[in-house]
Amino acid sequence: MLVVMQSHATDEQVRAVCERIAQLGLRAHPIPGAGRTAVGITGNSGAIDTGSLESMPGVAECIPVSKPYKLVSRDVKEENSLVRVPAPAGDVIFGGKDVGIVAGPCAVETREQALTIAERVRAAGARLFRGGAYKPRTSPYSFQGLAEEGLKILAEVRDRFGMGIVTEAVDNESLDLVEKYADVIQIGARNMQNFSLLKRAGRARKPVLLKRGMSATLDEFLMAAEYIVSEGNYNVILCERGVRTFTDHTRNTLDLSVIPAVQRLSHLPIVVDPSHGTGRRNKVLPLSRAAVAAGADGILVEVHHDPDRALSDGPQSILPEEFNVLVTEVRAIAAVLGRTVN
Ligand code: PEP
Ligand code: MN
Repeated sequence: MLVVMQSHATDEQVRAVCERIAQLGLRAHPIPGAGRTAVGITGNSGAIDTGSLESMPGVAECIPVSKPYKLVSRDVKEENSLVRVPAPAGDVIFGGKDVGIVAGPCAVETREQALTIAERVRAAGARLFRGGAYKPRTSPYSFQGLAEEGLKILAEVRDRFGMGIVTEAVDNESLDLVEKYADVIQIGARNMQNFSLLKRAGRARKPVLLKRGMSATLDEFLMAAEYIVSEGNYNVILCERGVRTFTDHTRNTLDLSVIPAVQRLSHLPIVVDPSHGTGRRNKVLPLSRAAVAAGADGILVEVHHDPDRALSDGPQSILPEEFNVLVTEVRAIAAVLGRTVN
């Protein structure tokens, strides 16, 4: 259910509506829009008696929301959500005119490795650095990440190069630490339906980058985002990273058609990860170009200066010089669409 306020409704009237919703034992989510504020209601198991809300001062109308996801739906908020990620080198805003670039190694391996790559990707223009301190690996014997030590290295990257930090939390415990050090909390594909982790991310004070599960439908993807938003964190960036199909020429099949599909149904920004989406270095550049051409709000790409010796995802990591080319080409494609690369 959505309570749409009149365009001239006062803050006081919005507050009164939220209080009435709380008195009904439900949760109110005020959503300011360009022309008017709407108040989303969650927590109801059946229909809500809207009579008492509809007659309140400042209320224009009450609209039932038929989708299973509510707060992430365009029915509730027509205009795109802008998710601002602070970075000393310049904030990056996802969901608007900017195409955000997030680059770095799959995993933080050593201080030298992270600083070397950060220097190169920053020089190419990236303002956001990604690198895992906690790695969800298929094998328990594979490198699991440096944990807090890795987060400290990421903090040094921010200090030295002015880059915002994007890094993954794999469970509630690591999320506590990631929230402390990072600028964006990444939730990985394997955790897209880890509902307790999603709820914890929803209570975090940092933006969340939510990766699509490797076999998730669009509805499941948006429901996962709804978990985060319903806890009060509206700063969610969706990330397409490929789904599993029968193909064997790539690690996953990058589903670029999900970009316009998401944009039709949801106001949240969507970025694309062509590294996990293809698993092959030589396919990262063409798929990055295609993602931006299809309307992605950003690109998340793995870069390594010595990929043959990388502790994880070397085969899909591009070299810094390839990353330079990527930024140049993506910038040219973005310009055709009236967008700018940051
Ligand atoms: C990653 O970003 O390094 C990662 C593990 O990605 P995903 O969750 O998409 O597999
Ligand atoms: Mn990886």
